[in-house]
Amino acid sequence: MSHVLDIQGLTKTFGGLTATDNVSLTVNSGEIHALIGPNGAGKSTLINQICGEILPNAGRITLGGRDITALAPADRVALGLGRTFQITSLLDDMTVRANLGMAVQARAGGNFRIFDRAASRAAVWDEVDQSLSGSALAVRADVPVADLAHGEKKQLELLMALSQRPRLLLLDEPMAGLGHVESQQMIDALRAARKDCAILLVEHDMEAVFALADRITVLVYGRVIAAGSAEDIRANPDVREAYLGEEDA
Ligand code: ADP
Ligand code: MG
Repeated sequence: MSHVLDIQGLTKTFGGLTATDNVSLTVNSGEIHALIGPNGAGKSTLINQICGEILPNAGRITLGGRDITALAPADRVALGLGRTFQITSLLDDMTVRANLGMAVQARAGGNFRIFDRAASRAAVWDEVDQSLSGSALAVRADVPVADLAHGEKKQLELLMALSQRPRLLLLDEPMAGLGHVESQQMIDALRAARKDCAILLVEHDMEAVFALADRITVLVYGRVIAAGSAEDIRANPDVREAYLGEEDA
């Protein structure tokens, strides 16, 4: 099976509270898998266990066939786990292109050093141009990050994360704080990103979830109450009652 990510029985308790309760899910290569559920359902706790910031009490996490359950966050990144760079880590007085160049260099520096310095620089900028082409940021390449709109910064974070060439990208609410046009641009960017890596997407914006997700897992009080295609989830009465009903209210 070509599971990029395989989670089995992941349980995390905080005192008497079970934040994730025996959660199992898989993400296939090339798939966008959405994780949805009401506030407090345990979505962020699950994401933090996958990236290694929280260690589970029980369960197993496999990335690309390797058991990463006990690995440090940096070792998981080295095995292909990607997260978005935070806006706070962008260099404000440098351009979009320069920020992306630094991210590419951070990943590829070691490999490029076998070339001479001019060739290595050219390889970095080639990759930056490729990453920008087709992006909403293509026309903003020479603008300092400080002058970007919020949605443009989120686009840049995504491109920087992708420049690390992860096999799985974890996204915790990428649409948060975006307006309608910016959300649409993010949906387009995530669709394009799927060609290069699998995505586990936590998102409250149901329009985005239904537009993007190949499969959806629904978490309520730490438990998976449903998993399936967008159509399955939309039609599932338990989901409607536990979660989607909120949208109609
Ligand atoms: P979601 O992201 O789905 O909104 P969280 O994973 O943030 O949910 O939280 C799940 C539950 O675990 C909540 O009840 C929350 O209060 C609790 N929780 C999360 N992190 C901690 C922590 N570090 N210590 C204690 N309780 C926590
Ligand atoms: Mg959360």
